[in-house]
Amino acid sequence: MNNRHAIYIDGRWLQIQAPSFCVSDAATGEPMTSICLASAEHVNLAVRSAQKALPIWAAATPEQRSHVLNQIADGLEARATELAHVIAREVGMPLRLCEMIQVAAPIAAWRSYAGLAAQARNERSIGHSLVIDEPVGVVAAITPWNYPLHQITAKVAAALAAGATVVLKPSEIAPSSALILAEIIDGSDLPAGAFNMLTGLGSEVGTALVEHPDVTMVSFTGSTETGKHVAALASRGIKRLSLELGGKSPAVVLEGADLTQAVKSTLASCLLNSGQTCNALTRLIVPEARFEAVAQLLRELLPKYIVGDPMERTTRMGPLVSEQQRRRVTAFVDDAIRAGIPVIARGNLPEQLTGGFFFAPIVFGPAPEHCALVQQEIFGPVLTVQTHQGVDDAVRLANGTPFGLAAAVWADTDETAIAVARRIRAGQIDLNGAPFNLAAPFGGFGASGLGRENGEAGLSEFLETKSLQRKATA
Ligand code: NAD
Repeated sequence: MNNRHAIYIDGRWLQIQAPSFCVSDAATGEPMTSICLASAEHVNLAVRSAQKALPIWAAATPEQRSHVLNQIADGLEARATELAHVIAREVGMPLRLCEMIQVAAPIAAWRSYAGLAAQARNERSIGHSLVIDEPVGVVAAITPWNYPLHQITAKVAAALAAGATVVLKPSEIAPSSALILAEIIDGSDLPAGAFNMLTGLGSEVGTALVEHPDVTMVSFTGSTETGKHVAALASRGIKRLSLELGGKSPAVVLEGADLTQAVKSTLASCLLNSGQTCNALTRLIVPEARFEAVAQLLRELLPKYIVGDPMERTTRMGPLVSEQQRRRVTAFVDDAIRAGIPVIARGNLPEQLTGGFFFAPIVFGPAPEHCALVQQEIFGPVLTVQTHQGVDDAVRLANGTPFGLAAAVWADTDETAIAVARRIRAGQIDLNGAPFNLAAPFGGFGASGLGRENGEAGLSEFLETKSLQRKATA
């Protein structure tokens, strides 16, 4: 077992005497590594260090910031194999998908922030005012376990590109990529204190960070439940707040759409990372007259999702992240079966999978619009089919949950899909199977959050604006 009992503050690793937390291998359930649980005292040290570094990093030129961000991207690239392995083991996503989604994509994001930092234009004139965008200050970045390096990158790379300084608290459930990132940053030219990293529990380190008077901004990604708590604490200190929360995203299929592609693509989105993806399309909303055809397609497609060891190249779906997560998903499924919601199809678990947190994927439908399967984020491999009676009904169902993170629209033409997408309250909408765009703003309406991440929009979250009025000169 590999122990990593250190936190990173003011450009140094601090070995601390603290309780430890065991991180499990999702595919075996066995201990994989352990981390130390930092305390509120360590939060004070880390915030002080970030505050001290702020004027230095805020004064760095665009070229200097860009150089450091590129150095970090280089460091991640050099350790890409190791990163993919630790994330596959901690989270359970198949290794070949981790390589692309969990590692290559975040490296590309660091590079893109290096580019944005180099082009930064933080001053403009509006009438007789000089308008200046300044780094927001000290940022508390709190991240979840499902796409650990990606979520960290969306906050840390963007904040550093903007000239802000950061204290990161990664998820205790999948912390290894954060430790590797801190090692890489330690070897870069980033000024000491501009990035600090504390491993620990949300209830202790997370809360202390959110409450700290010298933290100017809280950038949180996690569940809506924790997000509400974080928002309440942060509002007491009138802090800038960004919340990337949960979802219950719909795929709306209209008459005339390519039904086979729509069903295939929605199932793939729903089952990616064993359903543990915030913007997963977990509700498939199809014309009532097409329900039987959709159910038949799903019965054919589901067995192709071979559940297995994330390290095997043939595996399409790994385990859930933890026993707690498996209990949560099992409870939703059992309740739905008890409530009489029909099961369309259920995947199989190979017999050799004895350890680990494996769960067979399942598809329900048709489901009534107010049931838990439709209204609540399950965060597991569970797809729910709903039926609609035309465009207006489909839009009403799509907007019929408290969430609004993502959606998909499938129609006969992109023009029809755009017209329908304009009526859906969600931050990201893919039309007719178009792929993810890492540079486009990402974030939620309603209970899915506040603010936007990724690309330029993500960088501007970490800026504060100031207007200087000048007297007109002759
Ligand atoms: P979580 O809310 O349990 O934890 C997220 C982070 O918050 C962790 O680092 C945790 O330690 C910390 N935390 C917990 N309690 C805290 C508290 N009281 N104060 C401060 N910090 C606290 O979420 P999770 O289980 O790690 O992640 C899954 C959730 O994240 C899902 O709901 C998913 O939809 C959401 N998510 C959203 C996005 C997005 O971009 N919208 C992306 C990924 C995940």
